[in-house]
Amino acid sequence: MAWDERQRRMLEAMGVRLWPQAEPEPEADVAAAAPVLPAQPAASPRAPAIAPATPRQLVTGPVATMDWPALRAAVAACTACSLCESRTQTVFGVGHQRAHWMIVGEAPGEQEDLRGEPFVGKAGQLLDNMLAAIGVSRQAAEGDDPARRVYIANVLKCRPPANRNPQPEEVARCAPFLQRQIELVQPRIILAMGRFAVESLLHTSDAIGKLRGRVHRVAGVPTIVSYHPAYLLRSPLEKARAWDDLCLALQTLGGAH
Ligand code: URA
Repeated sequence: MAWDERQRRMLEAMGVRLWPQAEPEPEADVAAAAPVLPAQPAASPRAPAIAPATPRQLVTGPVATMDWPALRAAVAACTACSLCESRTQTVFGVGHQRAHWMIVGEAPGEQEDLRGEPFVGKAGQLLDNMLAAIGVSRQAAEGDDPARRVYIANVLKCRPPANRNPQPEEVARCAPFLQRQIELVQPRIILAMGRFAVESLLHTSDAIGKLRGRVHRVAGVPTIVSYHPAYLLRSPLEKARAWDDLCLALQTLGGAH
Protein backbone atom coordinates (compact mmCIF):
# COMPACT_ATOMS: atom_id res chain seq x y z
CA MET A 1 0.00 0.00 0.00
CA ALA A 2 1.35 3.45 -0.85
CA TRP A 3 0.76 6.06 1.82
CA ASP A 4 -0.37 9.43 0.65
CA GLU A 5 0.95 12.54 2.33
CA ARG A 6 -2.08 12.93 4.61
CA GLN A 7 -1.81 9.35 5.85
CA ARG A 8 1.92 9.74 6.45
CA ARG A 9 1.35 12.83 8.53
CA MET A 10 -1.39 11.10 10.49
CA LEU A 11 0.63 8.00 11.19
CA GLU A 12 3.61 10.03 12.20
CA ALA A 13 1.35 12.04 14.48
CA MET A 14 0.18 8.77 16.02
CA GLY A 15 3.80 7.90 16.60
CA VAL A 16 3.70 4.73 14.53
CA ARG A 17 6.05 3.42 11.93
CA LEU A 18 4.93 3.11 8.33
CA TRP A 19 4.19 -0.08 6.44
CA PRO A 20 7.25 -0.48 4.25
CA GLN A 21 6.88 -0.54 0.51
CA ALA A 22 9.26 -3.50 0.31
CA GLU A 23 9.64 -6.26 -2.23
CA PRO A 24 7.35 -9.23 -1.47
CA GLU A 25 8.87 -11.94 0.69
CA PRO A 26 8.47 -15.68 0.12
CA GLU A 27 5.10 -17.18 1.02
CA ALA A 28 4.56 -17.48 4.78
CA ASP A 29 2.00 -19.41 6.76
CA VAL A 30 -0.31 -18.06 9.42
CA ALA A 31 2.01 -19.00 12.26
CA ALA A 32 4.80 -17.09 10.58
CA ALA A 33 2.50 -14.10 10.27
CA ALA A 34 2.31 -13.91 14.01
CA PRO A 35 3.89 -11.43 16.35
CA VAL A 36 4.94 -8.13 14.85
CA LEU A 37 6.58 -6.27 17.67
CA PRO A 38 7.28 -2.57 17.50
CA ALA A 39 11.03 -2.97 17.72
CA GLN A 40 11.16 -5.38 14.79
CA PRO A 41 11.18 -4.49 11.12
CA ALA A 42 7.62 -4.16 9.85
CA ALA A 43 5.92 -7.13 8.22
CA SER A 44 5.85 -7.46 4.47
CA PRO A 45 2.61 -6.48 2.72
CA ARG A 46 2.69 -9.93 1.12
CA ALA A 47 -0.25 -11.76 2.66
CA PRO A 48 0.19 -15.04 4.52
CA ALA A 49 -1.46 -18.11 3.02
CA ILE A 50 -4.62 -18.53 5.03
CA ALA A 51 -7.78 -20.51 4.54
CA PRO A 52 -10.78 -18.48 3.32
CA ALA A 53 -13.23 -17.33 5.96
CA THR A 54 -16.10 -19.75 6.19
CA PRO A 55 -18.49 -18.25 8.71
CA ARG A 56 -20.12 -20.92 10.80
CA GLN A 57 -23.39 -20.50 12.60
CA LEU A 58 -22.95 -18.86 16.00
CA VAL A 59 -26.46 -18.13 17.20
CA THR A 60 -29.23 -20.42 18.29
CA GLY A 61 -32.78 -19.44 19.28
CA PRO A 62 -35.03 -16.87 17.64
CA VAL A 63 -32.23 -14.43 16.82
CA ALA A 64 -30.58 -17.08 14.63
CA THR A 65 -32.89 -16.54 11.67
CA MET A 66 -33.36 -12.77 11.89
CA ASP A 67 -32.57 -10.56 8.92
CA TRP A 68 -31.23 -7.02 9.40
CA PRO A 69 -34.58 -5.27 9.94
CA ALA A 70 -35.78 -7.95 12.38
CA LEU A 71 -32.49 -7.88 14.27
CA ARG A 72 -32.48 -4.09 14.50
CA ALA A 73 -36.06 -4.13 15.78
CA ALA A 74 -35.25 -6.86 18.32
CA VAL A 75 -32.32 -4.85 19.67
CA ALA A 76 -34.40 -1.65 19.84
CA ALA A 77 -37.09 -3.44 21.85
CA CYS A 78 -34.73 -5.47 24.05
CA THR A 79 -35.43 -5.55 27.78
CA ALA A 80 -33.28 -8.61 28.56
CA CYS A 81 -31.22 -6.78 31.19
CA SER A 82 -31.53 -3.71 33.37
CA LEU A 83 -29.52 -1.50 30.99
CA CYS A 84 -32.76 -0.92 29.09
CA GLU A 85 -33.95 1.20 32.02
CA SER A 86 -31.16 3.77 31.82
CA ARG A 87 -30.45 3.93 28.08
CA THR A 88 -31.52 6.85 25.92
CA GLN A 89 -31.64 4.48 22.97
CA THR A 90 -29.99 1.31 21.80
CA VAL A 91 -26.82 1.54 19.70
CA PHE A 92 -27.13 -1.11 17.06
CA GLY A 93 -24.11 -0.78 14.77
CA VAL A 94 -22.96 1.25 11.80
CA GLY A 95 -21.28 0.72 8.47
CA HIS A 96 -21.75 -1.51 5.50
CA GLN A 97 -23.82 -4.65 5.97
CA ARG A 98 -21.48 -6.67 3.77
CA ALA A 99 -18.10 -5.28 4.75
CA HIS A 100 -14.80 -7.12 4.71
CA TRP A 101 -13.86 -5.50 8.02
CA MET A 102 -15.75 -5.80 11.27
CA ILE A 103 -14.74 -3.88 14.39
CA VAL A 104 -16.07 -5.01 17.74
CA GLY A 105 -15.87 -2.57 20.65
CA GLU A 106 -17.20 -2.63 24.17
CA ALA A 107 -20.33 -0.60 24.83
CA PRO A 108 -21.85 2.77 24.03
CA GLY A 109 -20.64 5.73 26.07
CA GLU A 110 -22.47 8.98 26.68
CA GLN A 111 -22.10 10.34 23.13
CA GLU A 112 -23.05 7.04 21.54
CA ASP A 113 -26.11 6.70 23.78
CA LEU A 114 -27.25 10.17 22.69
CA ARG A 115 -26.50 9.73 18.98
CA GLY A 116 -27.42 6.06 18.57
CA GLU A 117 -24.15 5.30 16.75
CA PRO A 118 -21.06 3.46 18.01
CA PHE A 119 -17.71 5.16 18.43
CA VAL A 120 -18.68 8.78 17.88
CA GLY A 121 -16.72 10.27 20.80
CA LYS A 122 -12.96 10.81 21.11
CA ALA A 123 -12.20 7.08 20.98
CA GLY A 124 -14.29 6.91 17.81
CA GLN A 125 -12.30 9.71 16.21
CA LEU A 126 -9.10 7.81 16.89
CA LEU A 127 -10.67 4.63 15.50
CA ASP A 128 -11.77 6.48 12.34
CA ASN A 129 -8.23 7.87 11.92
CA MET A 130 -6.71 4.43 12.33
CA LEU A 131 -9.11 2.99 9.77
CA ALA A 132 -8.51 5.91 7.41
CA ALA A 133 -4.81 5.11 7.51
CA ILE A 134 -5.55 1.76 5.88
CA GLY A 135 -8.15 3.19 3.50
CA VAL A 136 -11.18 1.88 5.40
CA SER A 137 -14.20 4.03 6.25
CA ARG A 138 -17.54 3.60 7.99
CA GLN A 139 -18.97 5.87 5.28
CA ALA A 140 -18.03 3.57 2.39
CA ALA A 141 -20.85 3.45 -0.12
CA GLU A 142 -22.51 0.64 -2.05
CA GLY A 143 -20.24 0.74 -5.09
CA ASP A 144 -17.03 0.98 -3.05
CA ASP A 145 -14.50 -1.82 -2.82
CA PRO A 146 -15.75 -4.16 -0.04
CA ALA A 147 -12.18 -4.28 1.28
CA ARG A 148 -12.60 -0.60 2.18
CA ARG A 149 -15.88 -1.14 4.00
CA VAL A 150 -16.29 -1.70 7.71
CA TYR A 151 -19.10 -2.63 10.02
CA ILE A 152 -18.71 -1.38 13.60
CA ALA A 153 -20.58 -2.93 16.50
CA ASN A 154 -20.27 -3.22 20.25
CA VAL A 155 -20.57 -6.13 22.65
CA LEU A 156 -23.34 -4.25 24.48
CA LYS A 157 -26.03 -2.35 22.63
CA CYS A 158 -26.95 -0.21 25.66
CA ARG A 159 -24.82 2.21 27.67
CA PRO A 160 -23.80 0.97 31.12
CA PRO A 161 -24.60 3.71 33.67
CA ALA A 162 -21.66 6.06 34.28
CA ASN A 163 -19.69 4.03 31.72
CA ARG A 164 -19.05 1.25 34.20
CA ASN A 165 -17.69 -2.06 32.92
CA PRO A 166 -20.16 -4.45 31.29
CA GLN A 167 -21.33 -7.17 33.68
CA PRO A 168 -21.02 -10.84 32.66
CA GLU A 169 -24.78 -11.30 32.55
CA GLU A 170 -25.23 -8.24 30.32
CA VAL A 171 -22.56 -9.55 27.96
CA ALA A 172 -24.21 -12.98 27.87
CA ARG A 173 -27.67 -11.58 27.14
CA CYS A 174 -26.44 -9.28 24.40
CA ALA A 175 -24.13 -11.84 22.77
CA PRO A 176 -26.69 -13.32 20.34
CA PHE A 177 -27.19 -9.88 18.76
CA LEU A 178 -23.48 -9.42 18.08
CA GLN A 179 -23.16 -13.01 16.90
CA ARG A 180 -26.02 -12.55 14.46
CA GLN A 181 -24.44 -9.31 13.20
CA ILE A 182 -21.26 -11.26 12.47
CA GLU A 183 -23.25 -13.94 10.63
CA LEU A 184 -25.06 -11.34 8.53
CA VAL A 185 -22.02 -9.22 7.69
CA GLN A 186 -19.83 -12.26 6.96
CA PRO A 187 -16.68 -10.20 7.43
CA ARG A 188 -13.33 -11.42 6.17
CA ILE A 189 -11.58 -10.04 9.24
CA ILE A 190 -12.70 -9.12 12.75
CA LEU A 191 -10.81 -6.70 14.96
CA ALA A 192 -11.69 -7.35 18.61
CA MET A 193 -10.82 -4.15 20.45
CA GLY A 194 -10.43 -4.34 24.19
CA ARG A 195 -11.03 -6.81 26.96
CA PHE A 196 -14.79 -7.13 26.67
CA ALA A 197 -14.78 -7.72 22.92
CA VAL A 198 -12.16 -10.41 23.46
CA GLU A 199 -14.06 -12.02 26.32
CA SER A 200 -17.32 -12.06 24.39
CA LEU A 201 -15.86 -13.33 21.10
CA LEU A 202 -13.00 -15.57 22.19
CA HIS A 203 -14.29 -16.66 25.61
CA THR A 204 -11.03 -16.01 27.36
CA SER A 205 -9.93 -13.65 30.09
CA ASP A 206 -6.31 -13.73 28.94
CA ALA A 207 -4.71 -10.31 28.68
CA ILE A 208 -4.76 -8.46 25.35
CA GLY A 209 -0.97 -8.42 25.40
CA LYS A 210 -0.96 -12.21 25.44
CA LEU A 211 -3.55 -12.62 22.69
CA ARG A 212 -2.48 -10.02 20.17
CA GLY A 213 0.00 -10.67 17.38
CA ARG A 214 -1.64 -13.86 16.08
CA VAL A 215 -4.73 -14.86 14.16
CA HIS A 216 -7.68 -16.22 16.16
CA ARG A 217 -10.97 -17.47 14.70
CA VAL A 218 -14.54 -16.51 15.54
CA ALA A 219 -17.04 -18.70 13.71
CA GLY A 220 -14.34 -19.35 11.13
CA VAL A 221 -13.54 -15.67 10.60
CA PRO A 222 -9.90 -14.62 11.19
CA THR A 223 -9.88 -12.39 14.25
CA ILE A 224 -7.18 -10.02 15.45
CA VAL A 225 -7.02 -8.84 19.04
CA SER A 226 -6.03 -5.27 19.75
CA TYR A 227 -6.25 -2.51 22.32
CA HIS A 228 -9.39 -0.48 22.75
CA PRO A 229 -9.11 3.04 21.28
CA ALA A 230 -10.07 4.57 24.65
CA TYR A 231 -7.09 2.78 26.19
CA LEU A 232 -4.87 4.10 23.39
CA LEU A 233 -5.97 7.64 24.25
CA ARG A 234 -4.83 7.04 27.82
CA SER A 235 -1.68 5.14 26.82
CA PRO A 236 -0.44 6.73 23.58
CA LEU A 237 2.78 4.71 23.64
CA GLU A 238 0.69 1.61 22.86
CA LYS A 239 -0.42 3.13 19.54
CA ALA A 240 2.58 1.56 17.87
CA ARG A 241 1.36 -1.89 18.91
CA ALA A 242 -2.19 -1.09 17.77
CA TRP A 243 -0.74 -0.10 14.43
CA ASP A 244 1.08 -3.42 14.22
CA ASP A 245 -2.24 -5.16 14.93
CA LEU A 246 -3.87 -3.26 12.05
CA CYS A 247 -0.99 -4.26 9.78
CA LEU A 248 -1.45 -7.91 10.78
CA ALA A 249 -5.18 -7.62 10.04
CA LEU A 250 -4.42 -6.08 6.67
CA GLN A 251 -1.91 -8.80 5.92
CA THR A 252 -4.34 -11.55 7.01
CA LEU A 253 -7.16 -10.06 4.95
CA GLY A 254 -4.88 -10.02 1.95
CA GLY A 255 -4.45 -13.78 2.29
CA ALA A 256 -8.12 -14.66 2.79
CA HIS A 257 -9.39 -15.00 -0.76
N1 URA B 1 -16.27 2.61 23.25
C1 URA B 1 -16.79 1.47 22.70
O1 URA B 1 -16.30 0.37 22.95
N2 URA B 1 -17.81 1.60 21.89
C2 URA B 1 -18.35 2.76 21.58
O2 URA B 1 -19.28 2.77 20.81
C3 URA B 1 -17.80 3.92 22.14
C4 URA B 1 -16.75 3.83 22.98
